[in-house]
Amino acid sequence: MEKTDILSLSLSELEQLLVKYDEKKFRAKQIFQWLHKKRIMDFDKMTDISVQLRQQLKENFCINGLFMQKRLESSIDNTVKYLYRLSDGNFVETVLMDYSYGKSICVSTQVGCKMGCNFCASAIAGYVRSLTPSEILTQIYETERDTGVRVTGVVLMGIGEPLDNFDNVLKFLNLISDKNGNNLSLRHVSLSTCGIVPRIYELADMKLQLTLSVSLHSPYDDKRSEIMPVNRTYNIDELMKACRYYIEKTGRRITFEYAVIDSVNSAEKDADKLASLLRGMNCHVNLIPVNRVRERNYRTSRSGAADFAKRLGQRGINATVRRTLGSDIEAACGQLRRDAGSKGGLDN
Ligand code: SAH
Repeated sequence: MEKTDILSLSLSELEQLLVKYDEKKFRAKQIFQWLHKKRIMDFDKMTDISVQLRQQLKENFCINGLFMQKRLESSIDNTVKYLYRLSDGNFVETVLMDYSYGKSICVSTQVGCKMGCNFCASAIAGYVRSLTPSEILTQIYETERDTGVRVTGVVLMGIGEPLDNFDNVLKFLNLISDKNGNNLSLRHVSLSTCGIVPRIYELADMKLQLTLSVSLHSPYDDKRSEIMPVNRTYNIDELMKACRYYIEKTGRRITFEYAVIDSVNSAEKDADKLASLLRGMNCHVNLIPVNRVRERNYRTSRSGAADFAKRLGQRGINATVRRTLGSDIEAACGQLRRDAGSKGGLDN
């Protein structure tokens, strides 16, 4: 019988399973705390659990870990980029960023991505599978173990589309914020989506306190469909309706991500259209100088993002340019994994 991945179980799921083994419910909380609070990844070291129960745990559960395949540290700004190998040999990327207010971590939610955004290295490298809750979670645990720091913010902006792995991402959010475990407020979590509209409605109805980031990248349907195929299924009008619903339901401000690309989406007319789209909305625009991807010719000129921010500002839209971190270890999101795959032939 296949063993159960214990790090993917919520506290209540673990309680239910232990009761099945004729154990008291409170044992689940002890085990959960060993794993998620004390980060003890060995049943034999859980000293307040009986030897008999530890044996049973070993027979029925596994504690899945990640293997650090590669670690690149920036000498400019302390950004650390990890390539982690999963138990089946696939790879994901994780980035630890150093901000004045704390450490923020960018985690992957899938091995590859189906969404096909044409400026994104993750899409070019292809889709393999979704991550389990524990595979998302242990990117954080392993990075904290490696660096000895406590992460204060989490962004779901690595490889993958979080809303295309909805159930596991929700389980992950539950695990990361559990008071008996890691206890991180969802106010310190951002989830970035390319715009899977039905899931935005579902998320809104859950009224979680996380920050929703929506990758917009163009205010025009024809252009957005060209660079983001998801727009052919959920167009800008439908996306904006869902975003307004999200803001109304949760009372939270939305962030729109906008990679500024020369000759694609940063002219005066783009600023006009974007401003008319967002005017009056409780939102913020995050402008991203585009990361160069080998296969594409997209670029942002030196002042491109700042110029576009100014244009938006003149039109009453609040926009900031995302700081570029780890430029000396640059490899646009998804490129480490793709390179590992092509060399080692381990993924896909
Ligand atoms: N699938 C999710 C989250 C992962 S990508 C999403 O689409 O939002 C995180 C952000 O990086 C998204 O806004 C994405 O559009 C952007 N991005 C991807 N490739 C990029 C590149 N080459 N340059 C700049 N931003 C990029």
